[in-house]
Parts: sequence; C-alpha cells; structure tokens
Amino acid sequence: MTTIVSCKGVSKTYQQGKVTVNALTNVDLSVETGGFMALAGPSGSGKTTLLNLIGGLDNPDSGTIQVDGQTYTHLNGSQMADLRLHRIGFIFQAYNLIPVLSAVENVEYVMLLQGVAADERRERAREVLDTVGLSGKYDRRPAELSGGQQQRVAVARAIVAHPSIVLADEPTANLDSKTGESLLALMLQMNRERSVTFIFSTHDNMVMDFARRIVMIRDGRIDSDQNKTDR
Ligand code: ADP
Ligand code: MG
Repeated sequence: MTTIVSCKGVSKTYQQGKVTVNALTNVDLSVETGGFMALAGPSGSGKTTLLNLIGGLDNPDSGTIQVDGQTYTHLNGSQMADLRLHRIGFIFQAYNLIPVLSAVENVEYVMLLQGVAADERRERAREVLDTVGLSGKYDRRPAELSGGQQQRVAVARAIVAHPSIVLADEPTANLDSKTGESLLALMLQMNRERSVTFIFSTHDNMVMDFARRIVMIRDGRIDSDQNKTDR
C-alpha cells in the first residue's frame, strides 16, 4: 500500500481579534492510496481547516504535509497551483459551480485550465456527466438543476481530470438524506471504478457509514481512527 496523504505534527491557529483559536493541534494523519475515508466531527472541530491544508488552499503554522509524494513546504506558488490543478479534486458543501456556465462547461473548465484541446474536453466532460447520471442535462446551468444534480456536476468536475485524490467538504450538507445517500454511493462507485482516493468530511452518521475508515476529530485533535474490515 502506498501513502497518498501524510500530515505530520500539523497545527493551525486563527486569530479572532485578540483571541487565538487552535483550529488544529499536532495532527498526524496518513491516508492510503485508494482509500475512502470520512473525516468526522462536530461543527468547529477543524474538518474544513484540515481539508484546506491537505488541498494546499492554506498553510499550516507548523508541521509538514505531503500529498502524492510532494512535500508542500518544498513547493513554490506555481508548483502548488500545478499540484492542485492536476492531482487534487475539490467538492464543496455549497457546490461552488460557476453560475453562468452550463453543466458541461463547468466540467470542461478544469481541462481548459490544463490546456486540453476543445474537442477532447467536450467529449470527456459529456462522458463523465453520463457516468454521474446527468446525460441529457449537459446544457443546464446550475440554477436549472436540483441540489443533488448540482453536486453530481461537482463530482464530475472533481474527477474528470483524473486526480489522485478528491477532497469533499461536507458534500451532502445541503442535500436531503436520500439525495445525500445516492451522492455517497456515486462517490464510492468512482472510488472503486477509477481508484480515486476520497477524503470527505461530515457530521452525519449516514454519511460516515459509507466510509471504509472513519477518523474522528474533536477540538482540532484526532480523537479516534477506525478501519472497517468488511468493505
Ligand atoms: P469544521 O469544518 O469542523 O466546522 P473549521 O475547520 O471550520 O471546523 O473550524 C475550526 C475552528 O477554527 C473553529 O473554532 C472555527 O471557529 C475556527 N475558524 C475556522 N476558520 C476561521 C477563520 N477564517 N478565522 C477565525 N477562526 C476560524
Ligand atoms: Mg467545515
């Protein structure tokens, strides 16, 4: 088994006026390639902070983060941007699609930034939208899609460029439980079929049930780490 994510002694504080918030304290976490891991914990426990650090969207105060063999502290800004563009897919709670673009254009956008040719972009975007169950919805804008459909577009966008890892921050938080469940089933299918590693955060037990590993975080520290052997 190879390790895709390695966090060692990661700490992060935020300054709120005169108050220092310890969002993460000395977090060690390593995730195996091909994993399907839930980062669980109550609101304010540090889930978003940790995902943002793993995704290179923010820097820790101390500790080291390595993703796909790259140690972040050794990378400059453009190498970091390159890593995010080519190796990491993001799914957010609020979908974060570009409102003026259609579903297919939203999915194409990453490949546009990567310099993939127009024909290939369109073909791959349609193919992946078919995979997530959105054939026939290519030309809909986000506002013309349900929440569940928008999040499926976000899944399609996250996986289209064949990232090594997808980070999903409370991807089902805005969905009803049935829609949330089918989104998790889709993510699990993508994990199995495309061997994409997923780390998703949640405070919902139903969502945790889908995970093969549940890492509990509480007050910025890892509280428990449970592997399910039956999946
Ligand atoms: P979660 O995603 O589990 O709800 P967060 O990572 O968002 O937790 O937050 C962890 C802690 O850090 C909380 O106490 C939160 O209030 C604080 N925090 C998060 N982001 C900021 C910020 N930008 N400025 C100040 N405090 C923050
Ligand atoms: Mg959060």
